[in-house]
Amino acid sequence: MPAAKKPTRRKTAPAKPEPAKCPACDGTGEASRAVRVGARKGRLTDHQQTGLCLTCWGTGEATD
Ligand SMILES: [Zn+2]
Repeated sequence: MPAAKKPTRRKTAPAKPEPAKCPACDGTGEASRAVRVGARKGRLTDHQQTGLCLTCWGTGEATD
């Protein structure tokens, strides 16, 4: 596969502070958790639920 040509313009952009990554989802904005069955035993299943990270609400950025 030929390498895709990328524009090689390199201007020093003003340093933009990158938003801190959400520690809960590592910046993905998604949180997956294992599905548990049973109120008492909490038996783990093989299923995974992926949902919105409740810490950053899907933005992937740490809130302050
Ligand atoms: Zn998050």
